[in-house]
Amino acid sequence: MNYHVLTLFPEMVLEGLNTSIIGRAAASGKISIEAVNIRDYTKEKHGHVDDAPYGGGAGMVMQAAPVCDAYEALCERLGKRPRVLYMTPQGQVFNQKIAQELAKEEDLVFLCGHYEGIDERALELIVTDYLSVGDYVLTGGELPAMVMIDCISRLVPGVLNNDASAEEESLRQPSGVPPVHQAGGVQRDEGAGDFAVRPPQKDLRVETAAVHPPHPGAEAGSAGRGKFGQEGKEISGGTDGPEGGAGDPQGL
Ligand code: SAM
Repeated sequence: MNYHVLTLFPEMVLEGLNTSIIGRAAASGKISIEAVNIRDYTKEKHGHVDDAPYGGGAGMVMQAAPVCDAYEALCERLGKRPRVLYMTPQGQVFNQKIAQELAKEEDLVFLCGHYEGIDERALELIVTDYLSVGDYVLTGGELPAMVMIDCISRLVPGVLNNDASAEEESLRQPSGVPPVHQAGGVQRDEGAGDFAVRPPQKDLRVETAAVHPPHPGAEAGSAGRGKFGQEGKEISGGTDGPEGGAGDPQGL
């Protein structure tokens, strides 16, 4: 799996994904992550990549030309035109099912907006998928791209030490998975104030599984903790479950 991130902040993406499991996967060649600086493709002196929106309005928009030129140069180098995922709060909300579909691709391009987003003409020309990390607005598409790259990479064979881990996800289990405990178990000594590792007195996994049944909106039985699932939908007002639809553009 080769990821190509089109961004104004390449170091944010590369540094953010350079640690732990994803960093090791990249170092061992199981995945590759390149960040293409859109600014390198501007023809404007002073390196400007933003402009005032046509017709007025708040903020600045990213110009179409450098975004399209960055993508075309990438395609020429690769000899193919990979799928382009635009990170946008107005897109379909990303979930495990979408991750599984995307994990089948060989190359993926993540397009990260900033400011008030990217000139619509560039999006119409190159974008194949519009994806959101949730019904809230961030300052840029870099964090959403990193979230999705992390999630998709776990599904790439060999990235996890034990590929069975990806198979046993809570979202894939009809009744959720029970909380995990370290082998020895941890208990707090009465009055001692510190934690000691000792064998569990009873099978905690069975007991706690019943305490956290899947919540009704979970795709296939997540652990279902917390109370934000249903209330979150009302606040965003625009999605209809984990499959998600476009959020409310007015609200964004
Ligand atoms: N005015 C835009 C709108 O209403 O959709 C918001 C632009 S946002 C401040 C700047 C960039 O951050 C977007 O172009 C997008 O790439 C990214 N972004 C913000 N929130 C996001 C989310 N929930 N999911 C994915 N990308 C997001």
